Amino acid sequence: MKIVFYEDFKRTDYAADGASVPGRMERIMDALVGEGGYDVVSHEPASSGDLSLAHSKTHIAGITKDMKLFEMASLSAGGAILASEIAFKKEPVFACIRPPGHHASKNSSWGYCAFCNMGIALLKLREKGLIKSAFVLDFDAHTGDGTLDVHS
Ligand SMILES: [Zn+2]
Repeated sequence: MKIVFYEDFKRTDYAADGASVPGRMERIMDALVGEGGYDVVSHEPASSGDLSLAHSKTHIAGITKDMKLFEMASLSAGGAILASEIAFKKEPVFACIRPPGHHASKNSSWGYCAFCNMGIALLKLREKGLIKSAFVLDFDAHTGDGTLDVHS
């Protein structure tokens, strides 16, 4: 199994919220890698074209007002893209990325989210003609309104 991760996800200076708590990523990665048998792979940030698949220019411009958040959120979306490409090859994969994205809609975001990571990844697979639809199992305590919005 592959784990998509990038060392920059250990940074906590991009936000002051529950998802950016110091030590969070370290504990997750220690638990995963400690089990053994995993191949940790890194990735590139999502491009502006990738972000535009799911978000309006206004929303993207709003996130760029905070460059630390923009860089981390672009890296997170890039991780989701890589994970989707690996999964499409029928390889098991887990993306250990932050900030999260399921509350990031076309024109707004909340709940520690900036860009809709899963939505961008799926829209990119669709743009390439690799999928027509997808089933998303979201096990957060509430609806992934952003994921629904970017696909409507
Ligand atoms: Zn949530």
